[in-house]
This record gives sequence, structure tokens and C-alpha cells, in this order.
Amino acid sequence: MKKNQKQSPLTYERKNFWKHAPAAEQKAAMDYASPYKEFLNQCKTERETTVWMENLLKKHKFVAIDGKKGSSRVYRVFRGKTLAVAVLGTDPLSKGFNMVASHIDAPRIDLKQNPLYEDGPSQMVCMRTHYYGGIKKYQWVSTPLSLHGVVIKNDGSLLNISLGEKDNEPVFIIPDLLPHLARKEQYSKNINDAIDASKLNLVFSGMIEPSCEEKEAAKAFALKALNKAYGINEADFLSAELQLVPATKARDAGIDSSMLVGYGHDDRICAYTALTALLDNLDQKPKRSMIVYFSDKEEVGSQGATGAHSIFIQDFVGELLAYKGEDKSSANLRKVFMNSQILSGDVTAVLDPNYPNVHEKQNAVIFNHGIGISKFTGSGGKYSCNDASAEFTAKVLKIFNEAGVFWQMGELGKVDEGGGGTIAYILANLGAEVIDCGVGIMGMHSLYELCSKADLYSTYKAYKAFLATQ
Ligand code: MN
Ligand code: MN
Repeated sequence: MKKNQKQSPLTYERKNFWKHAPAAEQKAAMDYASPYKEFLNQCKTERETTVWMENLLKKHKFVAIDGKKGSSRVYRVFRGKTLAVAVLGTDPLSKGFNMVASHIDAPRIDLKQNPLYEDGPSQMVCMRTHYYGGIKKYQWVSTPLSLHGVVIKNDGSLLNISLGEKDNEPVFIIPDLLPHLARKEQYSKNINDAIDASKLNLVFSGMIEPSCEEKEAAKAFALKALNKAYGINEADFLSAELQLVPATKARDAGIDSSMLVGYGHDDRICAYTALTALLDNLDQKPKRSMIVYFSDKEEVGSQGATGAHSIFIQDFVGELLAYKGEDKSSANLRKVFMNSQILSGDVTAVLDPNYPNVHEKQNAVIFNHGIGISKFTGSGGKYSCNDASAEFTAKVLKIFNEAGVFWQMGELGKVDEGGGGTIAYILANLGAEVIDCGVGIMGMHSLYELCSKADLYSTYKAYKAFLATQ
């Protein structure tokens, strides 16, 4: 295949995939997108993604690391929301591993712990919510939402809920105010304040329980319906985790179907490409161990037991040492990380035709030019960034070039325009070489994020080549 980055030795120019990739690669890119779409439709929360991934891993003969020894394919799920997967190499882990690290949570709207109320004047039953992650609140009103999550019942059993995905299931709506009456409430305010978080209440039901003499006959009906459908009562919400996500399905986009629009590309697109890259490397007998790590809570700062700041990933690698019969001292565990190389797989912003002024074009990621690499993220004067070393950056570019991967360098936006972070610095704090690279997304954090199939496929190829590096 023609080398992607082959050019005049004096100039550099990135290449458009649809112009320069061979026909077979272009077809492969279009084909790769189909199962990814299905994955997006089935995995709308971190818990659902974890279950989906574990099922796929089992099909490929991966075993839980706390199970019986002897397999080179192991994984560990933690608290149902984060997981790490390894294909063990023949070299000692202290020589370092290759990892792709992404996150499987996405911005959404959570139900409050005590959500249900009957609105007196309208006699409707509503649910109070609390948004999760960096959403633009105005996008979440007047759009079909589905309800996902878990309820722990009185007897301790766990009830999975998914309502609003199937065509015959109801969806949920947070209604927006009609324009006719929005002059004072919305139009006079800035866009962030136009919809107050306290007004993101879901309209849940409207029927009345006829036998109920009390004032709250509508709420009584809702509780009875919930009890009939799920066997739950109002107190069960107090401990539940229930999330509202777009009820829409991922679709091809554009007259050429070269794009894919859907909820949760950030960051399930990097999670999916990382996992399929690993699975497609199973024919290798690697010296260096390959790890893919799927973290949770990235959208709210990566804190907590399942976020990337947790000791989970270190503990997993410690377990790998024990599993392989290697020195599992903390000194050796530190050495493992310090000799390791990691791609922080997270989405980045692409040049938006409607808002080109927020980007600096020469250093922005653009659609169809391959995986977007960010040497650093952060904001302002590179504040809070992981800045990948020149040596490691050059090494990664060489790996991508040799594998014929389409790639491009790019910053998130213009300097001082805003900014953002990933989990790169968290893993770099452990001493590993880390660089950010992932798919460029248009409309990031919206209900309907847009990606290019060329970039999706290029990211898969990039992760596959990187994981297999010896
Ligand atoms: Mn992300
Ligand atoms: Mn994000």
C-alpha cells in the first residue's frame, strides 16, 4: 500500500483518506462502521458497555483474572463500570506493556435520588434530574430520552432497567418552553442560563389513580404502574442509578454515508476501536503484553473507585504480575508502569465548518485525515496537560507510518479559546509514556455526535499497530 505520509522531503501535508487510501481500505472503513453502530445502540451507559464487552471477551476465550491460571487472555471487571483486559506477552512485564486507555462513560442526565413528584397546577407526575458531565442543557429538552440504569431492590437483588429503546416502548421528554412565551424566561438570558438545571424535569405520567382520594392521585398512579412493571416503590429510587440518554439510534450520515452520527462517540468510539484492535491482534504471540483499559467517570473528573484516578488499573497490573509469577512488589509495579507506553484514546474536536474561528486551522484536526494526535491537551498555557515527549511522539508516528495509518496532529482549539483534558496525565503520573490520540468529533457532547468513518477506521488501525509493537 502507498505510504500515507509519503511526500516531498521538504514539506509536510496531511492526506485525505478518501483521496489517498486504496479502494480496499476505503471499503474496509465503510464495513468497519456497521458493527460499531450496533455497539453504540446496545451500549448507552458504562454498565451496559461493560456487560457487552465482557460477553465479547468470553467469546474470545478471555478469562476473569481471579479465575484459574494458565491463560494469556485475562480481564477484570470492577464494580460493573470499568474494566481492563490483557493479552500477556512472553517478556516480563517489568519491560513494560503497550496500552490503549479510553473511557466508557458519556455525558447524560441522571435522575435525582428522590426524583418523583406531582406537579400540582398541571396534575402531571414529573421526575427531578441532575445532569452528568459537560452538557449544553438546551440540547436535552424536547428530544426523546430513554431510561437506563439499575435499582437495588429491598431483597438486595439488582434490577436492570432499559426503557425507551425499542419501538414499542415509551420514551421520555423534558419539554422545552414554547417560543411564544419564552421572551422573558429564555430569550433575555445567555444560552447557558436560558434553561435552568432546576427546570430539566422529566414529564413522567399523567393518568390518575381513581381509587385515590388524596391530592396526589397522579403520583399514586405512577407509583402503582412502577410497582406493577418493576416491583419497585418510591424508596427504591433513593439508592438507584437511573440515567436518561438519547433514545435515538446511531445512523449513517451524509449523502455518501461517509459519516456516522450517534450518541456517546465520546468516548465509546475509542473504547470500541481499542477492543476490536486487541481482538484482531490475537493471532500474534507478542513479547510485550497488550492491555486495553476502559475507565469510568472521565466526564466528571475521573475520580472515585471506577475513575482513572482509582488504584484499579495499578491493582490490575499488580494482579498480572502475580498471574505471570513475576515479582509483585510495589517497586516492580512502579517499574512496569515506568517502562510502559500508552495511547490515551479519547475523542478530540474537529474543525467545524460553522465555527472555524474557534480553531487554528493549521493545528486543528479535520475530518477524513485519520486519527487525531494531540501531543498535549489542557487549557491556557498548557495548564494541567500531559505533554508527550518528543521521543515518544516520534516513535508513535513511526509506528503509524509503518502500518500505513492515516494520522494528523491537532490541538483541541485555538489557544485561550477554551480547552479540555483526558485521562492521559493520570497515567503519565505513573511514569508511563502517554500521548493522546483518538477520533475527531463534530458536535462533541451533544445528543448526536458526528464522526467520519475514515477516522473511525484509521483509529482502529492505529491502535492495532501500536498494541502489537514489540
Ligand atoms: Mn472523552
Ligand atoms: Mn467528553
